[in-house]
Amino acid sequence: MITRKSAEQIGKMRQAGVIVGDCLRMLRGLAVEGVTLKELDKSAEAFIRGRGAKPTFKGYHGFPASLCLSLNSEVVHGIPNNRKLKNGDILAIDCGATFGDWVGDAAITVMVGEVGPELRQLVETTTQSLVAGIAAARVGNRLGDVGAAIEGVINPRGYGIVREYCGHGVGRALHEDPQVPNYGKAGTGPRIQDGWCLALEPMVNLGGDHVHTLADGWTVVTDDGKPSAHCEHSIAITESGVEILTLTSDGAWP
Ligand code: MG
Ligand code: MG
Repeated sequence: MITRKSAEQIGKMRQAGVIVGDCLRMLRGLAVEGVTLKELDKSAEAFIRGRGAKPTFKGYHGFPASLCLSLNSEVVHGIPNNRKLKNGDILAIDCGATFGDWVGDAAITVMVGEVGPELRQLVETTTQSLVAGIAAARVGNRLGDVGAAIEGVINPRGYGIVREYCGHGVGRALHEDPQVPNYGKAGTGPRIQDGWCLALEPMVNLGGDHVHTLADGWTVVTDDGKPSAHCEHSIAITESGVEILTLTSDGAWP
């Protein structure tokens, strides 16, 4: 069942979302060479709690941390550990905050130090595909239009698109209906309605599409060991347009 959110509910989701946007902005500054993934997670948890919210991911189906941190060939759901960031790494930072029962969910991929042109282009394309998906998320469009817009940015580069994981509805729960694949056919799928709130999150691989989960039960990695990038925003779609809910408090992309 896809729930439609009222203007008042979207306002509450915006409050949760801004905490996520500000947290990601802070983490972008902290993610430098020599910092451990655990240190980033600690900083995020303190930040989220300091704003009166709860880290949504902590304890979610038993997930042990506040952030999902996925380094290089890790795609999503990486568990923060004591590895240190190195020059040339790319790190996907996925953050969720629950504030007053409403969830914000967003992710960025940061480039540590000097990152080569191949990875830089991967990260930039991933961001551009999210921009295209957001632009296609309009009342009256179909869900397939969103997937097709995302795919339309990624495919010309020859990158892999992760099929096993996708975007989703977001609201009181982190994961609500509908599922939002990062590929699709324009003009297909359910019609987008006023009040839908979605988390769009392309996961883009430098190599092939295929991924698998490590023995820790969480960390998703590429089958071919090549790097992967991920970015995400929670958005609200209404008759008046689309709003990104997980911007920073000064209205910027984190
Ligand atoms: Mg997320
Ligand atoms: Mg998500």
